[in-house]
Amino acid sequence: MTIFEYENDIVILDMGLQFPEENMPGIDYIIPNIKYLEGKEKNVKGVIFSHGHLDHIGAAPILLKKLGYPPVIGLPLTIEMIKHRVEDYSRNDLKLLKVLQVKSLKDKIKLGKFTAGFFQVEHSIMDSVGTTLETPLGTIIHAGDWTMEREEDGSTHVKYTQLKDVKRPSVLMLESLGAIKQGRHATHKELYDNLISIIQKAKGRVIIATFGSQVERVKWVITAAGELGKRVALDGYSMKKNIELASKLGYIKPDKKTMIDIHKSEDYPDDKVVIVCTGAQGEENAALNRIVSGQHRTIKLKKTDTVIFSSSVIPGNERTIQRIKDNIYRQADHVIHGDLMDVHVSGHATRQDIIDMIDQTKPDYYMPVYANHFFLKEAKWLAEEQGFNSNKIFVPDNGSVFELSSKGLTLRKEKVPTEYVFVDGLGVSDSQHVVLRDRQVLAEEGMIVVITTVDSHTGQLVQNPDIISRGFVFLKDNKQLIEDVRKKVKKMVVESDPKTWADTDQIRNDIRDKIGQFIFSKTEKRPMVLPVVIRV
Ligand SMILES: [Zn+2]
Repeated sequence: MTIFEYENDIVILDMGLQFPEENMPGIDYIIPNIKYLEGKEKNVKGVIFSHGHLDHIGAAPILLKKLGYPPVIGLPLTIEMIKHRVEDYSRNDLKLLKVLQVKSLKDKIKLGKFTAGFFQVEHSIMDSVGTTLETPLGTIIHAGDWTMEREEDGSTHVKYTQLKDVKRPSVLMLESLGAIKQGRHATHKELYDNLISIIQKAKGRVIIATFGSQVERVKWVITAAGELGKRVALDGYSMKKNIELASKLGYIKPDKKTMIDIHKSEDYPDDKVVIVCTGAQGEENAALNRIVSGQHRTIKLKKTDTVIFSSSVIPGNERTIQRIKDNIYRQADHVIHGDLMDVHVSGHATRQDIIDMIDQTKPDYYMPVYANHFFLKEAKWLAEEQGFNSNKIFVPDNGSVFELSSKGLTLRKEKVPTEYVFVDGLGVSDSQHVVLRDRQVLAEEGMIVVITTVDSHTGQLVQNPDIISRGFVFLKDNKQLIEDVRKKVKKMVVESDPKTWADTDQIRNDIRDKIGQFIFSKTEKRPMVLPVVIRV
């Protein structure tokens, strides 16, 4: 999410979500921190959405609501996907959503002192768009997520030279995930031919796993299967919904005969069935994992199936994907993924694309964005190699604030708050670090519950303390340790001044601290200690 501000006008670009890392158990996703906008909600003149991927629209239902539903701006598929998410999040809010649909890339939209313009970009979902934001001081050019589709001879379909004519100075903000990608991506024709040949050769079913939002890719599969007279079944809630939205808008026109319900796929011969499903990243609840682990209602893997992974591995998911691949290789004899054949074209630019984009738009300032720091630095170095003035390249961090003034573009000292805002079953919160820490302790060290029952009049122990543990040590093998803990608690209670028992909190804290230390000295583990004092 990027915020642009001019006097009392604010324009926002994208409201994405981030998926949790491995050390964030129980967290569903992370959304942008909008503390900076508190008290400025009325200034927000509009939110532009570059395209419908979750890392660009995923936080929209929550953040739009928090901001009092400022107008949303985007192309049709993006808007449909946002509407669907808002409706999913709180059904009655759909009527509060104000939409300014971009009808043509020539549209200009006035948003306070900003004038928004648009330009075509290529990406792995329809209706991706680049944005220009003109202000009295200069123009921002932001490509959103983009790539340059090329033919075998390297020629491209889209030119960006018109962007050198924007009001100067211009700042090019460029997604740089491809900053270390050499060479060119496979052409769409190469990819399509590969798909056709795999689907044609398959003697059994073809199962293709990808992202729910890779609408473009799914469209090709549907077309390829249709051409070969095979049927296509979709599985995965997000995928079915996205394809339904894209079909409604006429972006996909599947032959009625081609599409079948996943639960009817058994009615057709195996070599006539293509299944497109979610879960290429090994996501636990996605369709592919259910199929592979035998938990799918209708689809069980067969030796004759051909399984295709059609998406690149998101960093951090490697191990999960390797595990699911092992599982597939045990059950099916044909597995295809990017390492073996081009069955996937990245939606992100390569080094050459970045060079060409800078060359065609000739910006005054260049700011690589939307990727890990190391990609951004690589993009900076790449531009420098091409002769771009290094004083005019800025590498932002999350929360960085830049100012464009008559003096040019400068990095300001302050940063805006960017602490993670977590979303989980409990709701939305930026104070869930405590909950998260508890979950980490429970996951890594387990817990031990110490129950002491005391007479409320005398402060005497009524019975032996009870010790219960989960995920810490196996009780049967550690009888001595548990007995020692029990003795220690007993001693603490016996030795304590009965008067202090008026303060149950105090004794609970004592037990937590001392038993915690004792266990650490014996085991070098720090399980969560939960003292319970019962008065009878
Ligand atoms: Zn994207």
